[in-house]
Amino acid sequence: MNIHEHQAKEILREYGAPVSNGIVIETKNDIKDKIAKLKDGSYVLKAQIHAGGRGKAGGVKLIKEKNNLVTEAEKMFGKVLVTHQTGPDGKEVKRLYIEEASNISKEFYLSCLVDRASSQIAFISSTQGGVDIEKVADESPEKIITKKIDYKKEGPSNDEITEIISIFDLKGEQIKEGKKLIRILYNILIDKDASLIEINPLIITKEKNLICLDAKMNFDDNAMFRRPEIFKLRDLNEEEPAEIEASNHELAYIKLNGSIGCMVNGAGLAMATMDIIKLYGQEPANFLDVGGGATKEKVTAAFKLILADKNVKGILINIFGGIMRCDVLAQGVVEAAKQVNLSVPLVVRLAGTNFKEGKKILEESKLKILSASDLNDAAKKIVDAIN
Ligand code: GDP
Ligand code: MN
Repeated sequence: MNIHEHQAKEILREYGAPVSNGIVIETKNDIKDKIAKLKDGSYVLKAQIHAGGRGKAGGVKLIKEKNNLVTEAEKMFGKVLVTHQTGPDGKEVKRLYIEEASNISKEFYLSCLVDRASSQIAFISSTQGGVDIEKVADESPEKIITKKIDYKKEGPSNDEITEIISIFDLKGEQIKEGKKLIRILYNILIDKDASLIEINPLIITKEKNLICLDAKMNFDDNAMFRRPEIFKLRDLNEEEPAEIEASNHELAYIKLNGSIGCMVNGAGLAMATMDIIKLYGQEPANFLDVGGGATKEKVTAAFKLILADKNVKGILINIFGGIMRCDVLAQGVVEAAKQVNLSVPLVVRLAGTNFKEGKKILEESKLKILSASDLNDAAKKIVDAIN
């Protein structure tokens, strides 16, 4: 789960990290009133969308005169921003954050994340702030320090922290502030089940203060049941409607750009199914794992999700019945097809628990189904059917 910059900064502030003062505007009608309450000075107007790269796309504006703030805010509100992270359709700005502007002297990059490969917590620090860290890693890896640390209840050691911030070449009071910030990021990551906290840029101002100028946080979806204070920060406006619907039914669903809709049980089998579709020259329209003990209702919801995707030109159902029963699956498919018109080819491969009963239900339904003997045959058939 992602949250907005202003929410991430609120958490940082709670933990004592240096962030600027700011206000949030959630409806266009509030713009004038809320800005009227601000004191004179320069501000940064920031579009709140769940995507980076806003600066280059016109979603971050330095406003030197408070008088210009209302006009600029009204222009930005409702605008569709296209950044390198939004995809070509962009994202509509439905929230603004207005922050007291900082005088930047240096911009750094700092992040703290769960490194799955090493089962450690990694800190990444770089002198190249305000740009994509992936680009820095490609072009000038010597400007990045990656420090992996074992999970410790008391957090990283003084030596580890010193190494993480060494690349910034901080002076005097900034060293103390920098060390404190590393401990804070670590504590937030652990306390809130975050998987990534990224401060890009972390700046030193002309007045020599350290400030978190931007903040991005991602959280582990599977831990949100025990972090209600984070879960309530979820902004459904920022999520794919199909993925919201899927999460309501506890389906693991990720929309992709291909044309073959997939319904599979088990993440491994889902990955294999997507691979074999690609092998035969087509692309999957989604990743969908209906899970182990899926009910008829869950299968119905899953099938409707696939059918609602306009890019879907054909559907491949690949079920290996273990805990999942093939007859339950078949009932769900028939039920969904009754509710929504099935106008694309459908290939079904069933194996395992109650597969005979499942096949019988599908046959008796009079749905137009191409049945397949194995996964290879199923993938070939669905690709042929849509070509
Ligand atoms: P992003 O493009 O979505 O990552 O948005 P950021 O919040 O990182 O802002 C992009 C860039 O805008 C930063 O790298 C800064 O160069 C600039 N910027 C943001 N806030 C301020 C500010 O308070 N003062 C100045 N001078 N520039 C700012
Ligand atoms: Mn940024």
